[in-house]
Parts: sequence; structure tokens; C-alpha cells
Amino acid sequence: MQYYSLNKKAPNVSFKDAVIKGLAPDKGLYFPESITPLEKDFFDHIEYFTNNEIAYKVIHQFVADEIPETVLKQIIEETLNFEFPVVNIDKNIAALELFHGPTLAFKDVGARFMARCLGYFNMDADKTKVTVLVATSGDTGGAVASGFLGIDGVDVIILYPRGKVSEVQEKQLTTLGNNITALEVDGTFDDCQEMVKTAFLDEDIIKKKKLTSANSINVARWLPQMFYFFFTYKQLKNKEKELIFSVPSGNFGNICAGLMALQLGLPVKQFIAATNINDIVPNYLATEIYTPKPSKQTISNAMDVGNPSNFVRILELFGHDNSKLKNHLSSYSFTDDETRKAIKLLKEKLNYIADPHGAVGYLGLKKYMSDKNAQGIFLETAHPVKFLDVVEPVIKESLELPPQILDVIDKEKVAINISKYEELKHLLLYS
Ligand SMILES: *Cc1c(COP(=O)(O)O)cnc(C)c1O
Repeated sequence: MQYYSLNKKAPNVSFKDAVIKGLAPDKGLYFPESITPLEKDFFDHIEYFTNNEIAYKVIHQFVADEIPETVLKQIIEETLNFEFPVVNIDKNIAALELFHGPTLAFKDVGARFMARCLGYFNMDADKTKVTVLVATSGDTGGAVASGFLGIDGVDVIILYPRGKVSEVQEKQLTTLGNNITALEVDGTFDDCQEMVKTAFLDEDIIKKKKLTSANSINVARWLPQMFYFFFTYKQLKNKEKELIFSVPSGNFGNICAGLMALQLGLPVKQFIAATNINDIVPNYLATEIYTPKPSKQTISNAMDVGNPSNFVRILELFGHDNSKLKNHLSSYSFTDDETRKAIKLLKEKLNYIADPHGAVGYLGLKKYMSDKNAQGIFLETAHPVKFLDVVEPVIKESLELPPQILDVIDKEKVAINISKYEELKHLLLYS
């Protein structure tokens, strides 16, 4: 499969090069040249396929023959070694739980898939290792660290802001060792991101190192997120009812993967992009004017994004035709206050403990569905224990720690302190 840059000022590349480069040289996001719907028979018989078989069907055309069938199947098997349950919450409403992976974040799937593709592509290369450089405000770092741990030929350097990630998140970043290095930055997340961007443009570094990023702009992190929507369809008892997905959205990678699933033929009536007060996309759908803004801090902080990078991919999917787009996508924003009330209601009335991101998804679903007789699914993107400080005071109950957290919490933190870009550069050049 060939991929083109959405800025249209860079050559087309193979899947392999799109994965290795991340972003096109003209700074555009890569997009597949064609999207071929899957046959109707597959949807009619989806319950007879295993998750691994479904994933292979869904991703195969985007990888084509650049990864041999047996290797791609192996990558899928290693990526999907946990459950994706659809849990009924209320009449017509269910949660798709995406937090059963090793770091309790839905980003585990994308990170694990990308790590293995990159490992495969780098096997035949000269012996230069690839260095994955990422800045994190929390969840991305943990998923990337765990997903890339022990992958041959790939080193990972993660920058995080001192004192600004939760204790659990910090442990997930700093206790693995091996090919994962954590840099604790004296500064904010924006400072971390700035350093990473500077490194990507620094000629001294580019000459010496093969650098890549691991955020959701990378096609190998974005595309496997399509699997979730097919796994849900497989689990639905009643496939006659109209299906609605509400996706808590920040950078819009996950929902964009859902809209790709729609293009592949998945029968979904409507997608809801539910956001916190970072309401760039709800505003765009209302006014048709795209106005990025500095991000605002909220309790659903993995969605604090003021200029969602994947939204251009969504526009491309619908040929930049807003009326077509609105036939498939609605978007609403919610305040922290509303989010806390939703967490409380879900616990008290429906006995379900949601994290702040899932709660935003639930609110989006309720707002769109009102009393429609459809099947609504909201994506629960993180385990509530990752947001203890928000969830426990609202539900007035303490949460039990799952094994994935007990595993890291007592391990020793190892991180290198840095405060200036020069220190990052030195590290990249001389270690
Ligand atoms: C990253 C993240 C999101 C947002 O996903 P996007 O693909 O960036 O829209 C939502 N919830 C959680 C818990 C996340 O970590």
C-alpha cells in the first residue's frame, strides 16, 4: 500500500517508510491511497472469526505484502493478548472496555502493533538502531514503554514533566530499563514536546541517528485502533439495531480509526466525538470554521488537546465535504463538573465505575441518543484506578488496584534529570 502526505508536497511512500518516518517531510500526515471495503459475507459471519482473524482481515490491505503473512499474524497475536469486553450498563447502552492491556490504556494496542512493525522493518536494515523519541503527559509514555520493551533494534527515549504525571504513570515509564530510557524534565509537557520537536529538526542528530516518533500520527499506531469497532460488532447480540459509537476524543486518532472502519463497511449509524472543554471539533461542526486554541487543563487530561492532529485525516476521509461528514459524525463537549456528575450517576444508578474519559464518552452518547431505540456504545479508554484522585472522591469508595499496577508500584524508579535541550542532544549523540 502506498501512502500520500495530506500536505501533498512530498513523495508517496510504502507502509514501511510511513511507519519509519512517522510524519512526511512536508510535515503532512500520511494517508492510505485506497480503502477497499470488506465483503458483506465477512460482516454476516463475523461471530465465527477469532479476534486475531478479524484483525488480520481489517489491517491486511494497509500493510499488503510489506510484511509476510506469517509475520503479520504473529504481530497481531502478540498485540492482542488481552480482552476487549462490551459490558452492558443500561438499556441500549454498553461500555467497550479498552483498558485491559498491560498499562491499562487503550493506547496499548497501537503501541504494541507499531513497536513490532518497526522491529520487523529494522531487522534487515544496516545495524543502526532506530530511536523512538516521545514526549508524554501521562498515558502515551507508559503504553509506548511497555509496547517497545525488548524490541530488537529499537531504543526508546521518553521525556516527561517532573511532578506532572501521576505516581502510577511515572512508575510505568521509569521502571522497565532495558531499551527504555526515561528523562525527567524540569518543565512542563509543552517544554518536553518542544525539545522533541527541536531534536527532529537538528541536523547534527539527524545525520547520526535514525529518529522516529510514536504518537498517534504514526500510521502503525493509528490503523490498528480500527480493530476495536469490529470486535464490538462481533460481540453484539442484536445486529439489527442501529449502532452508535461515542468516542472520548483528544487528538482524534481513535475516532478517525472508527470512521475508517465505517469506510470498510462496518454498519455504524453515527459516531459521536465526545470532548472535554477543549471543544475545537464541536465548534468546527457547528460553525464550519476550524479554530485551534491553546489547550486547557481538565480532569480528562489525556484529551487536553487544542489542535487535534488527526482531524485532517477525518476531513480527508469525507473528501472535505462537511455535509457528508455530519451524516456520520456528531460532536459535543462537556465540562469537568458534568463529567464528575456522570461518574457519580454511573456509580449510583447503574453500578458502573467509569474513569473521567469514559464518563465524557457516556455523556456524548446520552446527548445524541436521548430516547432513540438504538444500540449505543461508549469507549472506556482508561481504567478508573489511573485517575484515583478524581474518581474516589466522587464515588466515595476506594478502588482495588489491578495486577498490572501492583506489578510496577514497588519497583525502583530510574530516570535521568534534564532541564535543557543541550542535555537531550548530548544524550542522543553520545550514548
Ligand atoms: C489518548 C487518550 C484519549 C484520546 O484519544 P485520541 O485518539 O487522542 O482522541 C482518550 N482517553 C484516554 C484515556 C487516552 O489516553
